Amino acid sequence: MDQAAETEDNSMIKITNIFKTYTMGENVVKALNDVSLVIEDGEFLAIMGPSGSGKSTLTHIIGLLDVPNAGSYQLNGREVSQLSEDELAVLRREEIGFIFQQFNLLPRMTAVENVGLPLLYSKKIFAQNFTSSLLEKMGLALRLDHRPNALSGGQQQRVAIARALVNKPKMILADEPTGNLDSASSKEVMAILHELNSQGITIVIVTHEEEIGQQAKRLIRMRDGVVQSDVRKIPAEISDFKKIPELPNTTVISVGSWAEIVEHFKQGFKALIANKVRTCLSMLGISIGVAAVIAMLAIGNGAQKAIESQMAALGSNLFVLRTGATRVGGVVQDSGVSTRLTHEDSEALKEQIPAVKETSTRVNGKGEVTYLGQNWHTQVLGVDSSYARMHASQPEIGRYFTDEDNKKRARVVVLGSTVAKELFANNSPIGETVRINKIGFLVIGVMPEKGTNGWQDQDDVVAIPVLTFMHRLHGRAFVDAIEIEVNDANNMPEVEEAALEIMYKRKKVPPSVRHDAFVLRNMADIKAAMSESNETMATLLAVIAAISLLVGGIGIMNIMLVSVSERTKEIGLRKAVGARKKDIQMQFLVESIVVSAIGGIAGIVLGGMITTILSMTIGWATSISLTSVLLSFSFSAAIGMIFGIYPAKKASKLNPIDALRFE
Ligand code: ADP
Ligand code: MG
Repeated sequence: MDQAAETEDNSMIKITNIFKTYTMGENVVKALNDVSLVIEDGEFLAIMGPSGSGKSTLTHIIGLLDVPNAGSYQLNGREVSQLSEDELAVLRREEIGFIFQQFNLLPRMTAVENVGLPLLYSKKIFAQNFTSSLLEKMGLALRLDHRPNALSGGQQQRVAIARALVNKPKMILADEPTGNLDSASSKEVMAILHELNSQGITIVIVTHEEEIGQQAKRLIRMRDGVVQSDVRKIPAEISDFKKIPELPNTTVISVGSWAEIVEHFKQGFKALIANKVRTCLSMLGISIGVAAVIAMLAIGNGAQKAIESQMAALGSNLFVLRTGATRVGGVVQDSGVSTRLTHEDSEALKEQIPAVKETSTRVNGKGEVTYLGQNWHTQVLGVDSSYARMHASQPEIGRYFTDEDNKKRARVVVLGSTVAKELFANNSPIGETVRINKIGFLVIGVMPEKGTNGWQDQDDVVAIPVLTFMHRLHGRAFVDAIEIEVNDANNMPEVEEAALEIMYKRKKVPPSVRHDAFVLRNMADIKAAMSESNETMATLLAVIAAISLLVGGIGIMNIMLVSVSERTKEIGLRKAVGARKKDIQMQFLVESIVVSAIGGIAGIVLGGMITTILSMTIGWATSISLTSVLLSFSFSAAIGMIFGIYPAKKASKLNPIDALRFE
């Protein structure tokens, strides 16, 4: 019968000459071979036929889950083949409810959540209890929070029907809905479908059970992809026709995209919790990367701060004068001039330059300090009495040595606090005699504690008069360095010039070799050199951190790809209930962002622990900055985003019916 001409305007579905073929190697299967069909609003149509006759293929095409190879399909007057993928998704969720033989409920969601799933994509929140009232109408009032595996087949199919109804569609497509059900459950499902039809919803049902086919108002029989017969008839009475009340009226609230994102986050968490071990493993890479960043930045920061505080303690008005390093032994080879420094040079500089506040010579050496059979290896510093003022080292207990002590080459020593602690524990060392390299020294003071500078303990030192060091301890004629303190930072350049001039004169250095006869450096120079090496270090650390985060990101991508292929069926179902490409992308992106953000937080905690342990065991000064925490957190979230894009895109491109068939 061809009613197409007269029913064109009212007909919901108009299919004309469609073909669908599948090629399996050599075989070409004509699943649909020139099928034409018109379905009007409010019909109750059953499609029957032997297995493989093309029933499912036809319903999938009607339900917009699949497309024909040729022919025309008009839905409500619009040619379907001209609609975009997103327009099709909108039609799937607003106009059509699909019911599958295998129910296709999402296993991790409760009954209520499964029913509400299409609402996520229609961006509607129905009056809160709409989903539960739908389930109550289906006789599932006591099963709302059950997961599918805790429901019988009949119950699962009723949940699936509720899901198909949640967006109030005009048409229900059911592909063998009773195929997996016992006869009692089948009757129940059929009663519901009849009831829905009496409320005006178009029903198309595929079945191979004659009894069910006879309950329809119109029956189509198919064979080998061809419609064999199409008859309208009086439906057979069904025995226990259950009267279900009208679907509840609903309030529709459009919700903003934030609510949608929150929902995606919730679902993302659920998916991740369902795979705890895998999730943790994929987080590990990011965690280690972030921990590395945090610890490295903290240690770097600590070192920088230590240098700065050390500089501050030293004072920025200091010069250190040394013999030029390029001449062996301080002797300028071609002229025979010695540029080695003496105590007299130091005094001359102080006397001759008015802007010089203090000078001090300095010699360094290793020494073994013993007291009552205990010994301690430490650094021995020979300096002038002025050194204590220049370096804020005046003892808190006892006193520093004087110029007088120095002139007399007195055997007196001021201990650093570490040395005092090691040899005297809590007793006062003042007035006791210690031996430095077997020579007895009277302890006259203990220097104030200075702490570590990031590499070494600044309190692990003893100071003795420089002349004592040179003449009694080591027998040296020259000093290692002369430290010069300038009265005002503004006078630094002037003093630098004057000091060199005086030294050239004193040592009779000919102009030709002056350029590297001496090295005169101030603290600003040293500081600059140190921060330069610090920067090199920081760059190196940043590269290491970037590599480890990259590796972490690849780990996340890997896991997300596994997750996509594992959840292909779920993606198909989501698309079948109306998810657009962008919704699927969002879902997987949110998931990978959640993984890497949580991994990032774990990394921050881990990094904090590593930092604390390092600074406790090695004694490094460290400091974690808020910036580094925020930076690495947002960085790890960004990694999740970047490395999640590919798997998310891959998931969103799946064709709904292929995805649903995936096992
Ligand atoms: P029915 O639902 O009536 O049992 P189908 O519509 O599922 O039949 O299938 C019709 C024909 O198309 C069958 O021969 C089937 O093997 C074939 N077919 C269906 N889907 C595919 C597919 N994805 N790939 C290859 N052949 C298919
Ligand atoms: Mg089938």
